[in-house]
Amino acid sequence: MSCSICPRACQIDRTAAAGFCGCSSVVRVARAALHYDEEPSISGTNGSGTIFFSGCNLKCIFCQNMVLTDGTLGEVFSVTRLADTMRKLQALGAHNINLVTPTPHRDAITASLRIAKREGLSIPVVYNTNAYETVETIRAYEGLVDIYLPDLKYADPRLSKRFSHAADYFETAIGSIGEMIRQVGFMQTDKNGIATKGVRIRHLVLPGCVFDTRAVLRAIRERFGADCPISLMSQYTPIPECTVKPLDRPLTQREYDNAVESCLSLGFTNVYVQELTSVGRAYTPPFSDRVSL
Ligand code: SF4
Repeated sequence: MSCSICPRACQIDRTAAAGFCGCSSVVRVARAALHYDEEPSISGTNGSGTIFFSGCNLKCIFCQNMVLTDGTLGEVFSVTRLADTMRKLQALGAHNINLVTPTPHRDAITASLRIAKREGLSIPVVYNTNAYETVETIRAYEGLVDIYLPDLKYADPRLSKRFSHAADYFETAIGSIGEMIRQVGFMQTDKNGIATKGVRIRHLVLPGCVFDTRAVLRAIRERFGADCPISLMSQYTPIPECTVKPLDRPLTQREYDNAVESCLSLGFTNVYVQELTSVGRAYTPPFSDRVSL
């Protein structure tokens, strides 16, 4: 079967070879654990039951999880083990199941979610994505995913091409986000501030690229309105593998302040902002070929 799960549409048989994402037909998981470094509405006090998948269909040149992007790190998981892992994370007290970089593994994840839900998984399921998705793939999750966290990375096709090899990123991503919002609406929280359902759009502010942050925010405002929940992320951390300017330096306080100011001036009513000091290694947890759950 030829793969067109994501907009790359590699049209290759993944039982015979890996695609751009580095994924063959097996699912590799590089970490499954409680994670405390998402937004408070996701991590809460108990942690988010996070499953990090190996492989990526975007392969940003500045990725903080670079070790995962070629798809070779991680333990091979069957559909049933994936379902069991979700239930184990729930038993540990996780507020939700958080699927990180799930895109290439659509068929295995949807099958696992059906099994896990049949066997008692009841906490919300979070789909944590770079947003480079087809509408068809997002439709496959309807009724299975409660919360979508799409990271809308760029508006400018020159940036998305240069940094993520995808000139068609913006139109593709915003189309997939439209489908997410159609399914579950904007993010809602319970009385403790924990997310129960809906979409929050993330945007990682990149050094030297605040002009593009403004364009991203304007587009969100135009397409989805000022009540669309936004998370403006400040944790950009330069990695030694990326020497491309301006990505070879940290974000400055002034740049982040400008991004926040743009958000406020556009009238967004539900914005999560961070301290610039939240930059750190907590965002890059240890990954491994052995998963303990
Ligand atoms: S999921 Fe992987 S193999 Fe399939 S189209 Fe996307 S990049 Fe290509």
